[in-house]
Amino acid sequence: MPPQMSPEEFRATAHQTVDWIADYLRDIRDYPVLANVEPGALAARLPKSGPERGESIDVILEDFRKLIVPGVTHWNHPRFFGYFSVSSSGPGILGEMLAAALNTNHMVWKTGPSATELEQVSLGWLRQWLGLPEEFFGIIHDTASTSTLHAVIAAREAAGPNTDPLILYTSEHANLSIDRAALAAGLGRDSIRHIHIDDEFRMRPESLEAAIADDLAAGRKPFCVIPTLGTTSSSSLDPLPEIAAIAQRYRLWLHVDAAYAGPAAVLDEYRHILKGAELADSLVVNPHKWLFTPIDLSALYTRRPEIFRRALSLDQTPAYLQATESSGATNLSDYSVALGRRFRALKLWFVLRFYGREGISEILRGHMRMAREFAASVRADPRFELAAPVLFSLVCFRQHGSDDDNRELLDRINSTGSAFLSGTQLRGKFVLRLAIGNIATTDADVQETWNLISSFAP
Ligand code: PLP
Repeated sequence: MPPQMSPEEFRATAHQTVDWIADYLRDIRDYPVLANVEPGALAARLPKSGPERGESIDVILEDFRKLIVPGVTHWNHPRFFGYFSVSSSGPGILGEMLAAALNTNHMVWKTGPSATELEQVSLGWLRQWLGLPEEFFGIIHDTASTSTLHAVIAAREAAGPNTDPLILYTSEHANLSIDRAALAAGLGRDSIRHIHIDDEFRMRPESLEAAIADDLAAGRKPFCVIPTLGTTSSSSLDPLPEIAAIAQRYRLWLHVDAAYAGPAAVLDEYRHILKGAELADSLVVNPHKWLFTPIDLSALYTRRPEIFRRALSLDQTPAYLQATESSGATNLSDYSVALGRRFRALKLWFVLRFYGREGISEILRGHMRMAREFAASVRADPRFELAAPVLFSLVCFRQHGSDDDNRELLDRINSTGSAFLSGTQLRGKFVLRLAIGNIATTDADVQETWNLISSFAP
């Protein structure tokens, strides 16, 4: 008899597991943020082959605690300030657990009516909170990289058949996912233009227009432009209204990468950052970055869903899907490369309902206030300088000195295990990045991290 997990065993182990999760979230500050392990450490401790015979769940959970947890870099730690800090949340975790329990796959409506409709409803709520036009259709993908890949595929479809080389424009500071999307869509490296930025790291509209003119003169076909709201290195905002106007003038598909900063537009006082987005053909925002939804959940909006559908449609529905077609229903896999779809909307719905627009606004406002206060400490200390404007919850800064001094400072901070920051290059210099995005981060976390940083600076 193959092993079975009885409902009683599942119940008892699930209770223990939830207790472990609750303790983990409560005591997370006791863990080093960055895993203190060498490459290969875990692999060396695990058997080379999987077990012939099933093992007891107690032993597996014990190994999770003993072997796996020490090799975890705790992205859920309130002092994880690297990259764009992300955060799960109680309601998000519960939604994720229930999605795993249901294990539904809403490739077509009939195989997941609730999942299909909840995806539309929860993305509709978020769309309203962001102030995006009502006609924007939303679909969930795993990551912004996948959302942008779909946008590029749609943009190519919209450009129609032509033999001239297609050209895509984005800024020098765009996320690598834009380049990857172009490559994955088969466009080739020569098809990507990285437009120069100004002294606040924003795409220069005049350089964009000049590049388009050059390409047109050379017989190439500009087809897509991807500005970023909240660039990865510095959180700068490309000038969307101007870029949108250029996109309209040259009939380019306008895809907006608002993966990180998009959620800020939930706040009335930040609504303006999406000015121009009403003209976008598509836009991506990542609730798994700054909306307390466990990875993975990226929201792709488009005013032209029919183009996505056309780009990915087959001549005929395969026989194995025909029986599950329902007239009048939306089949979300018609709009995506993936046929299978996880019930991701459940966790987003839990998060949006639990916190509400007011609660989310308050948390984001708090993050931005803490970032401004951290920046004020940097500014007030003559050993340090700010390296970029602080627009949201990211602070880029450096100590006066060489790149090596700053790299060493970053290593020293991170090796304490008490906080984790990342680095980047701005204006040719290495800078440190402190990004606040965890739901549990407090003023004390930020203050103590500043104390740590300043204690290491000469
Ligand atoms: N766009 C921006 C501006 C980002 O900062 C990132 C990641 O940090 C991405 C896109 C890619 O996001 P994902 O990891 O969801 O593909």
